[in-house]
Amino acid sequence: RAKSAGGNRFELADPEADARAITRHGLTTSLPTALDRGEFFIEYQPLVHLGDGSVRGAEALVRWLHPQHGVLSPDRFIPLAEHTGLIVPLGRWVLEQSVRQAREWRERHGGEEAVGPLRINVNLSPCQLTHPGLVQDTVDILERTGVEPDALCLEVTESALIGADDDLLKPLRRLAEMGVDIALDDFGTGYSNLANLRRLPVSVLKLDRSFTQSMQQFPADPVDLKIVEGIVSLAHSLDLAVTVEGVETGAQAEQLRLLGCDTAQGWYYARPGPPERLHELALVDATG
Ligand code: C2E
Ligand code: MG
Ligand code: MG
Ligand code: MG
Repeated sequence: RAKSAGGNRFELADPEADARAITRHGLTTSLPTALDRGEFFIEYQPLVHLGDGSVRGAEALVRWLHPQHGVLSPDRFIPLAEHTGLIVPLGRWVLEQSVRQAREWRERHGGEEAVGPLRINVNLSPCQLTHPGLVQDTVDILERTGVEPDALCLEVTESALIGADDDLLKPLRRLAEMGVDIALDDFGTGYSNLANLRRLPVSVLKLDRSFTQSMQQFPADPVDLKIVEGIVSLAHSLDLAVTVEGVETGAQAEQLRLLGCDTAQGWYYARPGPPERLHELALVDATG
């Protein structure tokens, strides 16, 4: 604003930018100790099988209950946590809490043969990928909780893996060999070479919400339909499952089911919520 006003940019105040800077500063100083103060909590959003509508698991989404600012979404503090290095202990905490939660769900819903035990998806930031403790921490958490590796899916964004060299992929390969699923999150927003997919130890593609949004109208734009159809068939030919995010309407769900997507997540099914909510959803689901 100062620039466009053409005046002295040191004199023209931008109250909005100031407010942002103050908030940022406030968060920067309170973030490092927020984990010790127990201010983070996790919400879970169900992952639903598009074929039969059953709940198959959930994605863990972290929130920060800030004493002054209230509940903050991860977009507000994850970049900061990455910048300050807090993401490593925070990510480890999220992983442990989520896997513990998954064990509890599995204890209560282990018997549903048709659906199988509930699974848990946890997001990994690029900083965690390069942290040398990732594999060992994950192994330790799975052993401590007694949860099988195939109950866990780690989500890594497409952009984090663009141009990844073998050193970066090595820990993911180790985890994949153990039976942990790796999902490519926000797929379609980066610029990854589709042929590159073969090189990555991923077993799930999570189609970005932008594709789901383009399925809003019925019938959807024919070019968008073709693109999603192409991605799904490529994914399936590489033995990757396809999950879609951001499903907000029944029409979107139906369109994406017809296009062959496997699993869906979005407000149409449920918003992210407390862990008890998943018990209820899975239970309703199991009893019809
Ligand atoms: P993501 O992994 O792509 O997660 C999906 C986001 O879409 C979540 O936002 C979720 O609340 C939102 N969402 C789900 N269904 C719908 C829908 O139907 N419509 C719309 N408009 N949005 C929907 P959220 O919870 O704000 O998380 C944002 C991002 O923060 C996540 O994107 C993920 O990249 C990151 N994140 C969340 N938790 C963690 C974590 O524990 N560790 C790390 N490293 N990143 C995390
Ligand atoms: Mg995710
Ligand atoms: Mg995503
Ligand atoms: Mg996303």
